[in-house]
Amino acid sequence: MQQPRQIQEFVSKIIEIKNETPTVKSFKVELPENADIKFFPGQFFMVSFVNDPEIKTARAYSIASSPLENGYLEIALNKIAAFTAKMFQLKEGDFLKLKGPYGKFYFSDEIKNNLVLIAGGTGITPLMSILRYCAGKGLSNKIQLFYSVKVPEEIIFHNEIKKAKEKNPNFEYFITITRAEEHHEWKGKRGRIDLELLKGQIEKPEEKLYFLCGSKEFVDNVISMLQNLGVKREQVKTDVWG
Ligand SMILES: Cc1cc2nc3c(=O)[nH]c(=O)nc-3n(C[C@H](O)[C@H](O)[C@H](O)COP(=O)(O)OP(=O)(O)OC[C@H]3O[C@@H](n4cnc5c(N)ncnc54)[C@H](O)[C@@H]3O)c2cc1C
Repeated sequence: MQQPRQIQEFVSKIIEIKNETPTVKSFKVELPENADIKFFPGQFFMVSFVNDPEIKTARAYSIASSPLENGYLEIALNKIAAFTAKMFQLKEGDFLKLKGPYGKFYFSDEIKNNLVLIAGGTGITPLMSILRYCAGKGLSNKIQLFYSVKVPEEIIFHNEIKKAKEKNPNFEYFITITRAEEHHEWKGKRGRIDLELLKGQIEKPEEKLYFLCGSKEFVDNVISMLQNLGVKREQVKTDVWG
């Protein structure tokens, strides 16, 4: 059994800030030289500002990058209240304090089940780490990703996920847009992730391991659909944010 990683606290320079969507930014932070920071894909770090006179609290952010990437961690977030508003003002070269890793919502190599990853909105971040890790290691677990966002321009990491799908026959990607009425050009699936979609796509649901991440309402909803498919609660790992 692989052991949870050791918790460490460190100050880290922001090396890249990217507008992933009109409302989501990603931040790559450099890991301190010679630091041996390890985490499992799916885990999170507590992030805070360095010597900030106004905001002394920390917020949890799941790592979107793979643990196989040396030298940096990536997080992605949308602007909600004071903390995230301040995050959006940061520039490359600024510093953040990180402490972690934390959390039991993670994938590790001993898991041999095929995986079903289900995300709502920014809930894609920990699942992206799992996806990147499994692809990077060439693991044989089949992966299905179901991802729901409000509007097409808010799909985070869309191009990378689409490319992963083209390259890897073991990976399936289902994206659905919940507010598609204003987006007539959208040719993909519309509406929420529903029982019909899950039932139609997940073969042998009782053999899979499920990772669900998003708002409480989203996660609760998906759990009850999975129960409808005969999935046991022990097969479902959840990460709930709001
Ligand atoms: C384990 C864990 C991992 C997390 N990982 C991420 C991540 O990778 N990316 C990310 O954007 N956030 C993530 N969050 C949420 C994050 O910690 C903050 O709560 C969020 O960024 C809002 O911070 P804030 O101070 O601006 O607003 P807050 O004052 O903390 O929150 C204001 C309200 O927004 C709700 N809320 C929190 N997050 C969201 C969200 N993403 N979308 C809509 N409503 C939300 C809260 O429940 C609260 O009611 C994670 C939370 C947890 C517990």
